[in-house]
Amino acid sequence: MVEAGPGAGRPRVRFAPSPTGFFHVGSARTALFNWLFARQTGGTFVLRIEDTDAERNREEWVEGIVSAMAWLGLDADEGPFRQSERAPQHAAAVDRLWQAGALYACDCSRDQVEERTRGNPTPGYDGYCRDRGLERGPGRALRFRMPDGGVTVVHDVVRGDVEFPNDAIEDFVVVKSNGQPLFVLANVVDDIDMAITHVIRGEDLLPSTPKAQVLWEALDGGDLPVFAHLPMLVNEQRKKLSKRRDPVAVESYRDQGYLPEALVNYLALLGWSPPGGREIVPVEELIRDFRLYDVNHSPAFFDLQKLAHMNGEYIRALALDEFVARCAPWITGPAAPWPAGRFDEAVFRRMAPLVQERVSTLGEVPGMVDFLFLEEPTVDEQAWAAVVRDEAAGDIVARAIDTYRSCGWTVDDLHRATAELAEAVGRKLGKAQAPIRVAVTGRRVGPPLFEALAVLGRDVVLGRLQAAQARLGTPAGG
Ligand code: GLU
Repeated sequence: MVEAGPGAGRPRVRFAPSPTGFFHVGSARTALFNWLFARQTGGTFVLRIEDTDAERNREEWVEGIVSAMAWLGLDADEGPFRQSERAPQHAAAVDRLWQAGALYACDCSRDQVEERTRGNPTPGYDGYCRDRGLERGPGRALRFRMPDGGVTVVHDVVRGDVEFPNDAIEDFVVVKSNGQPLFVLANVVDDIDMAITHVIRGEDLLPSTPKAQVLWEALDGGDLPVFAHLPMLVNEQRKKLSKRRDPVAVESYRDQGYLPEALVNYLALLGWSPPGGREIVPVEELIRDFRLYDVNHSPAFFDLQKLAHMNGEYIRALALDEFVARCAPWITGPAAPWPAGRFDEAVFRRMAPLVQERVSTLGEVPGMVDFLFLEEPTVDEQAWAAVVRDEAAGDIVARAIDTYRSCGWTVDDLHRATAELAEAVGRKLGKAQAPIRVAVTGRRVGPPLFEALAVLGRDVVLGRLQAAQARLGTPAGG
């Protein structure tokens, strides 16, 4: 319990993920909304890892949660706590509930329950052991005695009042027959002990909330927390984001070169809209403007294109030095597509502003500049096929070799010389450039051609044009 003191009266929120898989973007959104609310209100953000399901939990997924949150900048004020280390508190709570008569022991097997309840109008347990007076013991589950009749109302910030008729809620299991307390019990005991005032979490947990409330009251937990169930995230087909079909792992966004500040900005828009309709909202402004009470209940479309677009905007807003520094894992590490030692930072820096304008993730950067650091450019097959189909390509390449042998070598010189070449072959400059670009860089898209040629230098450019000419089978000289 938290003592009255400087923080008294301030919200205490928690993010309580179960480490059963990769850290999901939906979980990241939940963590972010909790964190924003805590930072805005001067409250406390608690991280609690709900790791009691030993069969489904893995240590690497705990690490994944912790590192993804650090990457996103969602720092916890307390924790990470491990729910699995709080077994004594859970057991003590069960004892108290048992002594108060809130629980009863049950020795029904799953098959027996199924057989008895088949065809019942209300699904779930039929209360068979309610009045059998069984003692607690090995092999017996403990069930919570739901009140007969009446309704449990969840006052939800996002969804308004949601009513659950008590008769529709079965006498749910709080301790399994193997003695293991279930999620709903551990979750409520921890929320009470950690003095949580606001439970902000995914909408998938709303159905378990009436159970949480009756337990909270049976445990004399004091004032119920404020509940806010955040809308689910859906894909383009308006289906719930699926671990199998959709790219949901925060780690994969990090690895593709999304910037954490862009992802934070984007996640904040999933269920909430900043005032004034603006979309690029840096985190300080999110903290200032976010309103838990304005979160919308309709499903939020997780729009990959919009996220990529927003990431591109964040990339373009970086100062050059910062951009170069952020590119490091992709261009100087072992994952870079060129042999170690061939990378030249000065060359990269020269090209960087042009690259920065053209990428939407940092992961696209190597493909934009690999022609500078590879002995031979990686030739895109489709791009090359287009060159082969272009009957003027041989002539253009031959003329380019002639022209580039003797022209000046600044960006302007190269531009002028190539424009003259285009005129001579009766093509627009853009179209005339295409075979030259593919021959020299291997691709159809990339940084502006004349900058690329200027940086590569005359010898390399001529060498690549000659190689392309040989591949095209055009006799030297056109
Ligand atoms: N551990 C639960 C889950 O990951 C969340 C519990 C909660 O936020 O109340 O689904």
